Parts: sequence; structure tokens; C-alpha cells
Amino acid sequence: MSRKLIAGNWKMNGSLAANQALVRELLAGLGGTAPCDVAVCPPAAYLAQLQSLLAAAPTVALGAQDVSEHVGGAYTGNVSAAMLRDFGVRYGIVGHSERRQYQHESDIQVGRKAERLLEAGITPIVCVGETLVEREQGLTEFVVTRQLAAAIHFNRARLDDIVVAYEPVWAIGTGQTATPEQAQQVHALLRAQLEAAGAAPGSVRILYGGSMNAGNAAALLAEPDIGGGLIGGAALKAADFLKIIEAAA
Ligand code: PEP
Repeated sequence: MSRKLIAGNWKMNGSLAANQALVRELLAGLGGTAPCDVAVCPPAAYLAQLQSLLAAAPTVALGAQDVSEHVGGAYTGNVSAAMLRDFGVRYGIVGHSERRQYQHESDIQVGRKAERLLEAGITPIVCVGETLVEREQGLTEFVVTRQLAAAIHFNRARLDDIVVAYEPVWAIGTGQTATPEQAQQVHALLRAQLEAAGAAPGSVRILYGGSMNAGNAAALLAEPDIGGGLIGGAALKAADFLKIIEAAA
């Protein structure tokens, strides 16, 4: 099994000053090495700043929170995968539930976004996850496999190069984490789906996201199919993010 990946999704938080302080504290805490792969995903407006702050720190990769499904052209406000690559971006989150909810992104758009990233040499982090209502209606399996199927459809030849993040919507930013058993059950299902579609056994890292924090990370990360974490709130505090990184050793 490959090294775990801990990726921080800063969402629409930060400022030039706050980012600098956070990265300084993070890099000081890591001391030049990391026991797992680490990435931070700032808002697009700060990619240039983060590229510069991380230039001398190869242990922390730069990630983006979204990308256009188009290659380029008349799409006001969008950012292309090639533009992200210009700023040294190595990971791109696609299909985060907040974008599915507020920007009404479809499974097909998410699959295409992953495809654009792969074309640009950037690793997509494809998010899937059910809402509370869907879970209560017994639809978890149906929803997450439908979401992943679209990403598989557009990227069948490159499945070993993607990262998947299982993020139950009811756990994001709520403090209500999936239990390790609940998460593992969905991760195993997603892994089986990926492997049935041609991914090499154990090759795809499937991150868990949803109120992962310094206290619960170790138990979640101990599950066999949990290959890391996508961290929101706890990624904004260097001390907490560092504890999660340690738990992924
Ligand atoms: C996220 O936004 O991807 C996330 C997992 O958020 P949080 O850790 O705050 O639940």
C-alpha cells in the first residue's frame, strides 16, 4: 500500500498574512520531512503566493480546490488545468460537495474536470459522498457508486493516477465524523468498483474527509482502505494539521 496522503482544503479562507503564518508554522513543524504525502489546497487567488512559500519545501505539495471542465476560451471566471500547472499545482480537488451543492456541478462535469487535470499532469482528488437524507434512505451505496462511475467513465485508462475522497456530506464541517467502520465499508465498496473497472489492486488512494481531526485521525487512518484524509477545518490550524500528518505515519 502506498504512502498515505493528507490534503488540506482551505476552502474560502485565508489572507496573504494568514497564509504565510500558517505555512511557516506547518513547515517548521515538519522540519523538512513528512511521514506521509502532504498537500495544501488554498483558494485559487493564493496559488502564486503558495507556490512561492512552498518553493523550498518539496515535502508539501500544492493543490487546487477546483478546475474548469474546459481546456480554455470564453469561460469567464474559470481556471484551466494548464493554468494550475503553471503554478506548480500537483493535486486538484474536483466534485467537492460544496461545489455540487452551490454550483450544481453534475457527475459528468466532475468526471470531465478530472480528465482535464490528468491531461495536464495533475492528480485529481475526486470527491464523492452522500447527504444525511440519502444515508437515512439507504442510498449511500447507490449515490457514491453513481458519482464514482462518472469519474471512471471519463478516465478509465488512467484510474491508477487518480485519488478518490469519500466525504459524507453530513460529516463535512459538522463535527460529526463517520465511524472508522462506516468509512471503511464505503471505502471497500469504492475500491471494489475501481478495481472492477481496471484499477490495479490497492493502487488508488481513497481519502476520508468529514470532520477528521487530531483526535479521530489515527482510528480512521488505521482502516485498511483509508489511504489518507481530506481535511477542512483542522487544516487551518498548523498544530492540528501536523497531528493528523503524524497519525498518518
Ligand atoms: C472538506 O471540506 O473537504 C472537509 C472534509 O471539511 P471538514 O474537515 O471541515 O469537515
